[in-house]
Amino acid sequence: MGVIMKLAKTIESVRTLVKAAKGKGKKVGLVPTMGALHVGHVSLMEAAAKECEFVVVSIFVNPTQFGPGEDFEKYPRPIEKDLEICEKAGVDVVFNPTPEVMYGPESLTWVTVDKLSEPLCGRFRPGHFRGVATVCAKLFNIVLPDVAYFGQKDVQQAIVIKRMAADLNMPLEIVVCPTVREKDGLAVSSRNKYLSEQERKEAAKIYKSLQKCREMAEAGVMDSNEIVAQMRSILQQIKGGRIEYAEIVDAETLENADKITGKTIAAIAVKLGPARLIDNVLI
Ligand code: AMP
Repeated sequence: MGVIMKLAKTIESVRTLVKAAKGKGKKVGLVPTMGALHVGHVSLMEAAAKECEFVVVSIFVNPTQFGPGEDFEKYPRPIEKDLEICEKAGVDVVFNPTPEVMYGPESLTWVTVDKLSEPLCGRFRPGHFRGVATVCAKLFNIVLPDVAYFGQKDVQQAIVIKRMAADLNMPLEIVVCPTVREKDGLAVSSRNKYLSEQERKEAAKIYKSLQKCREMAEAGVMDSNEIVAQMRSILQQIKGGRIEYAEIVDAETLENADKITGKTIAAIAVKLGPARLIDNVLI
């Protein structure tokens, strides 16, 4: 029989629960999320449960990573369903604080990861990665996990967090798990819910474009410009879509890579109807 899952709404309560688990010598894994949980999130919980005896999932729609006019207010918050999903996945504690609990009346301290926060999504969402890095630093300090799990789908986020943890000597390991996809290749995302039936069909072209990139690289094409041109021509066929970026970048620095040599990432962001969709593959 599994242990009954606990819901912690305060910093003190999650700390007490984690302290007790650590006292029993348990390894603690943290899966930070914004809720509206899906199979992508569950894959992170499963990875955590495999390596850790105590799994904490945080569900927090973090206001500081949303810009003005973005979807903070309308972001889905189906907490009852989320708790069921966590319980089924064998999670030990769900940490679900309010913005007031997380930030208090006046927060003056921010974590900024230079350079890595600037390209790709950083160009279109100023301040986004400052919000992400700050909330993750806070979650790491609150939960004190041995390992934290992130998805490859948000690759820039994973790279920013890895760098923050290394630069600030945070005593935890960051694990990045593969992207979970729908049958047609679309990366599973809470924001896919915003799409109409037609838009949902069109969205599959994002992964087609990434596959094209992979195929060309495997066939020996090294010139990024040539590949990006092909990627863009597929993305341009998305009815109602607007390409924010389609780029090939170095997998460590996120700087533009002229040639496919060593580890590179092909990354895409497309606005489609009310949704902003991102995806990437490692080449
Ligand atoms: P979010 O709730 O969207 O902030 O995502 C929480 C975590 O789940 C992040 O580390 C994401 O990268 C990860 N994630 C979201 N979608 C997927 C997916 N389709 N496959 C793998 N991980 C994902």
